[in-house]
Amino acid sequence: MGLPDRSEDLRRVAAVREHLGDGVPLMVDANQQWDRPTALRVGRALEEFDLVWIEEPLDAYDVEGHAELARSLTTAVATGEMLTSVAEHYELIRAGAVDVLQPDAPRVGGITQFLKLATLADHHHLQLAPHFAMEIHVHLAAAYPREPWVEHFDWLHPLFNERLETRDGRMHLSDRPGLGITLADQTRAWTVETATTDAPR
Ligand SMILES: [Mg+2]
Repeated sequence: MGLPDRSEDLRRVAAVREHLGDGVPLMVDANQQWDRPTALRVGRALEEFDLVWIEEPLDAYDVEGHAELARSLTTAVATGEMLTSVAEHYELIRAGAVDVLQPDAPRVGGITQFLKLATLADHHHLQLAPHFAMEIHVHLAAAYPREPWVEHFDWLHPLFNERLETRDGRMHLSDRPGLGITLADQTRAWTVETATTDAPR
């Protein structure tokens, strides 16, 4: 979504919905391409397709706009992938600007910060759908009390020796230690600099 031609956007969604049938979960992602009036207008036109969510309808930092949109639509509003801290996410959460929170652990400062966010999101009864880096997020999402979504990307495959297991649309956690992944030789070959430090005392 998010093309200059809104009717083309809607035509595509209609075609995909018709192809999939009614029972298959479908979402759209506008990648912040709309202004507030456009997001509302397209959002209303999308209601009939029973989408799971509309992702990034507005500028990632437009908290008020997202809040207004979330109040105006029955379709869930998803956002958060661009934000870089717990504090930024909390602004969205507090304003009622998001139904499906999409934090990115590497972007918000790692696993500890992500877990703080997950606690806030659960406290506010939000759905969780982490953004990118599924190799990390599948573990974090599995620890969320509500059933989460995990975005599937194979872009990082060349970095690791292992592959995430997916069956029937579900990701399966490995029983290997830690994140269950080890760096591929190719990753080491791509490394341009290394450093060793003592563990913090
Ligand atoms: Mg996205």
